[in-house]
Amino acid sequence: MNWDVSMMSKRKGWIFSMDRIKIEELRQLINKSENIVFLGGAGTSTESDIPDFRSGNGLYSKVSEFNVPPEEILSIGFFNRQTADFYSYYRENLVYPDAKPNYTHVALAELEKRGKLKAIITQNIDGLHQLAGSTNVIEIHGSLHRSYCKNCGKAFSLEYVLANDGVPLCDECQSIVRPDVVMYGEPLNEALLTESIERISQADLLIVGGTSLVVYPVAGLIRYFHGRDIVIINKTETRYDDMATMRFEGPIGEVLSKAVLSDE
Ligand code: ZN
Repeated sequence: MNWDVSMMSKRKGWIFSMDRIKIEELRQLINKSENIVFLGGAGTSTESDIPDFRSGNGLYSKVSEFNVPPEEILSIGFFNRQTADFYSYYRENLVYPDAKPNYTHVALAELEKRGKLKAIITQNIDGLHQLAGSTNVIEIHGSLHRSYCKNCGKAFSLEYVLANDGVPLCDECQSIVRPDVVMYGEPLNEALLTESIERISQADLLIVGGTSLVVYPVAGLIRYFHGRDIVIINKTETRYDDMATMRFEGPIGEVLSKAVLSDE
């Protein structure tokens, strides 16, 4: 009976037109929203060639030369014990000074410029949202662009940390300089968490992107949302998919650029 429908569904054009309808729906959700918050994870930066920590071929699956898992190397205990080893791993695997913002970053910066997007809450430490022009960025895991002296607190740039091999030392007091990132074994910044909760609880549209929502605290933040719509854009399923008004399983840059940057 439904011969024509089943035939059509096998054609690429049909699937494409379905996608277009979904993109149009997302565009309308964005258009009617006044207070959008974006909650993002590593997947927002993979399109900038920064590896996803937790994906199959990500950083955590790499066998490290120190014979301990990366979670251990990126812990405060390892940093204190083997600071030089930490820095050699850090420079080689975590810092991508040449990475450029991708479509996700650009689209979100555009939404902030239009006055619609009020905050970006990110687990990423790469600073690419700011590089794309976003200003309301809550970096709950810190930023590799900031470092500070453990003793006197003097601030240092990433360039300072990368300028020499070995352990970077403070030019005032010769103490160890550490990155302003949350290492394993360290608590999160309470003020940033509180601000994230406030932003999410005030939002009318929450876009969650590039995170499988399994890692604390991002997974927990979503339950503070009391607004109208949640949109989840991720390459794999998440445990919160049932809460979503819309769900895209695909590259986030493509979805957001089509919904925000193009008028088709
Ligand atoms: Zn110092």
